[in-house]
Amino acid sequence: CGGAPAPALPRPADVQGIAHTKIFIDNEWRTSCAGRTFPTLNPATGVKICDVQEADEEDVDKAVEAAKAAVQRGSPWRRMDASSRGRLLHKLADLIERDRLLLATLETLDTGKPFLQSFFIDMDGSIKTLRYYAGWTDKIHGKSLPVDESFMCLTKHEPVGVCGAIIPWNFPLLMFMWKIAPALSCGNTVVIKPAEQTPLTALHIGSLIKEAGFPPGVVNIVPGFGTTAGAAIAGHMGIDKVAFTGSTEVGQLIKEAAAKSNLKRVTLELGGKNPCIVFADCDLQLAVEETQKGAFYNQGQCCTAASRVFVEESIHEEFVRCSIEKAKKIVIGDPLDPQTSQGPQIDRQQFDKIMDLIESGKKEGARLEYGGVAVGEKSLFIQPTIFSGVKDHMRIAKEEIFGPVQCIFSFKTQQEAIERANCSQYGLVSAAFTTSLDRALSVSAALETGTVWINCYNALHAQTPFGGYKMSGNGRELGEYALAEYSEVKTVTIKLSETM
Ligand code: NAD
Repeated sequence: CGGAPAPALPRPADVQGIAHTKIFIDNEWRTSCAGRTFPTLNPATGVKICDVQEADEEDVDKAVEAAKAAVQRGSPWRRMDASSRGRLLHKLADLIERDRLLLATLETLDTGKPFLQSFFIDMDGSIKTLRYYAGWTDKIHGKSLPVDESFMCLTKHEPVGVCGAIIPWNFPLLMFMWKIAPALSCGNTVVIKPAEQTPLTALHIGSLIKEAGFPPGVVNIVPGFGTTAGAAIAGHMGIDKVAFTGSTEVGQLIKEAAAKSNLKRVTLELGGKNPCIVFADCDLQLAVEETQKGAFYNQGQCCTAASRVFVEESIHEEFVRCSIEKAKKIVIGDPLDPQTSQGPQIDRQQFDKIMDLIESGKKEGARLEYGGVAVGEKSLFIQPTIFSGVKDHMRIAKEEIFGPVQCIFSFKTQQEAIERANCSQYGLVSAAFTTSLDRALSVSAALETGTVWINCYNALHAQTPFGGYKMSGNGRELGEYALAEYSEVKTVTIKLSETM
């Protein structure tokens, strides 16, 4: 009783037709050179949303030409003050804030992720990433270095040039910003390919890039398929760097194509089989909540998915019981409905792969505690699924599932848990749940992953670097560290005629 009423939740926009479905090059909308289009579907209904112009090698060539011209010395972009570059990035963030409702709705239509998650998490992350890198533009600088003998030596940070980017379908807008924001902050130009399943928000951003006032050619967007447009980017002689997020298998192809073409720089954000270690001294409710969020968020379609949860033997039974109770509260349904907390998987191929892995878990002897079945016939919805008694040799313990499946293991000692957690080809993220500071510090030192979360999960911030050890990738995105991936360092050494 009393108190202010809760603010009304945002409602999805009423989308009547999709405004932007073409290839975006030189701030213009173009049709495909080969005259082809491809459909993009709503995974919640299976209904086609629209057809999109399909970029292939020839379109990528044109995009690279535009990006190359835009980054040439003397070009408006190259001559622009660093602080003005920052203003443009802020302007783009302003326009995304203005169009937030439409963008969040498009994201939900194209991916199936619940609307409120698109609105609050994907949009917020995108805007914050842009603003963070907008602040960096005029703070990117070299050093003056003391050297032997009578020389003056300094370093300058210059753009790499044309940056290619290939992004996945699980966070289409957020991944777009993770790629373009640091690239533009450092003064590069970009050719970016959204995933074929989810081109719509990327194309809307094309219109905002033009409206914000970026010079033509600074950002070029080539919707298309991986083996055509994606491969053309990875192997292009005119592209100086490629940044990729997606599967480890394709990451290997990208690196190979880069090596065989012009040795372009490569950064890779790939898969994970991310371990969480839940110790008996943890806050149990918190651990249940965070590990489950980690397993089921975005329908489990996250490279950071909490896919191996190691629980100390003495609390294992209670942890499993609480996890089942919590999973029962998940609301599966129309992703545009604000009550929905879980939508469909992205497409039939992913759905089949997940169902196959669930079957393998049952066959290999893991205990199915909850879920394990599809919801409705012919749809792409899968019940949140919990397995306990999972053993390290099982497929569900080793392969990236990329679906709403939580695998719970039991352990006896800290040493054992760390060894098993590290026993993976991947090393993206990990988490530990404990109330002991000592334990938190020693476990975080021992885990072989690019990020360790203590008593939290999926705590990602624009300011902190993100990337993987081992086969989870190369390089770092976000934070100050990402700037190094988008800059060349030039050493200028000047011989002095007099010793000072
Ligand atoms: P994928 O790696 O095939 O696709 C990611 C991106 O790479 C897309 O834009 C795609 O068009 C492009 N691509 C595909 N083949 C290419 C090639 N030969 N050359 C250049 N670009 C290429 O991922 P997927 O098939 O969509 O999903 C398969 C599995 O990958 C998933 O089940 C999941 O395990 C993993 N995945 C990981 C992430 C992540 O964020 N790390 C994202 C999506 C998928």
